[in-house]
Amino acid sequence: MARPAPIEQIRNIGIMAHIDAGKTTTTERILFYAGRIHRMGEVHEGAATMDWMVQERERGITITAAATTCQWRGCTINIIDTPGHVDFTVEVERSLRVLDGAVAIFDAVAGVEPQSENVWRQADKYEVPRIAYVNKMDRVGADFAAAVGSMRERLGANAVPVQLPIGAEERFQGIVDLIENKAIHYLDDLGTRSEATEVPPEMAADVERARQEMIEAIVENDDDLTARYLEGEEIPPADLRRALRAACLSGRVVPVLCGSSFKNKGVQLLLDAITYFLPSPADLPPVKGHRPNTDELEERPLSDEAPLTALAFKIAADPYVGKLAYVRVYGGVLKAGSYVYNSTKDRKERIGRVLRMHANHREELAEAYAGDIVGCVGLKDVSTGDTLCDPDRPIVLERLVFPEPVIDQA
Ligand code: GDP
Repeated sequence: MARPAPIEQIRNIGIMAHIDAGKTTTTERILFYAGRIHRMGEVHEGAATMDWMVQERERGITITAAATTCQWRGCTINIIDTPGHVDFTVEVERSLRVLDGAVAIFDAVAGVEPQSENVWRQADKYEVPRIAYVNKMDRVGADFAAAVGSMRERLGANAVPVQLPIGAEERFQGIVDLIENKAIHYLDDLGTRSEATEVPPEMAADVERARQEMIEAIVENDDDLTARYLEGEEIPPADLRRALRAACLSGRVVPVLCGSSFKNKGVQLLLDAITYFLPSPADLPPVKGHRPNTDELEERPLSDEAPLTALAFKIAADPYVGKLAYVRVYGGVLKAGSYVYNSTKDRKERIGRVLRMHANHREELAEAYAGDIVGCVGLKDVSTGDTLCDPDRPIVLERLVFPEPVIDQA
């Protein structure tokens, strides 16, 4: 059996935020837009949003799952739960290990808060590429420029807006997409958007300034684009996006977006940005480990052709299937019904079922491939942090070194 989609179309992401910044609301909206509506082939059907939310909540939407899978524009997005509170530092580190990119959510009124600072530093340590989303643009006191300023000052981030809000507070109406140099208006509180239109005249000067700033931050990281820019060429959006992606992956630039998740404004554009700017597993370096008997170091490419190399990163008690091990497959193919070697415990075990966890259903898989994040049923002895691998090609993945606890300054 072949993999359903190329590895380049996977995004394993975390959503990190200070408590109350809107992580839950944003995640729910992401799962809505990238779940049901997408499968129905419609992106503008906003009217059903709230009804669906209510129904799903009654049925027990599993956004508390350690990893939830959804689809957006041909990409499979796995959202890995990343606790926002400092008490869960170890949990945060654990999730940072299996995610490849992150969305950092900030409150448009409060900007950077102490806990967002802590999680940010941990993400720095693991060199996790990030995009930032300034949420709650509808709140009284919302100030996009101030929030971006606080990211620069308090986090030392090279935060570069790729959107400017049109209006704020009650009059938050849309955004200017600085890459396309077009305005998009939100037509209601249900996620309906206008087609791209011209930039509002009263914003022209601000937009021009922000565009120049963005373009310079992007081309600075690309020799070819720098030369073209200096020759006065208008760089096309596709080239800007490609170069911004490279700058984001290397951690040199943090693209910043804005919205109001509560009012369904901005989440679909955030999903686009996740697919544009955050890495796929194919962008990552090989995973490192050592051979259990010889201690010899080994690197394994993140491809299906590599021997099975996987990590159990969370063990959950699931109401339907009992013990459920969330596993990230780095290399190789994980097959339901096969025997794998738990090299951490020196035991062979049989994987019963392999499940993809969606917001409102589980999908039974015959196989999981390099880059996938799945739930495994049937592993009795597995614990968090164990390596699962090919019995004939054993490896123990590098253990996490936990840092000193971070002191909360709140
Ligand atoms: P979390 O603690 O980060 O998961 O935050 P929640 O998603 O639970 O949101 C915290 C509170 O902020 C809730 O009362 C939400 O309804 C509210 N909230 C979330 N997003 C927005 C938004 O875009 N605008 C406004 N005004 N409130 C929001």
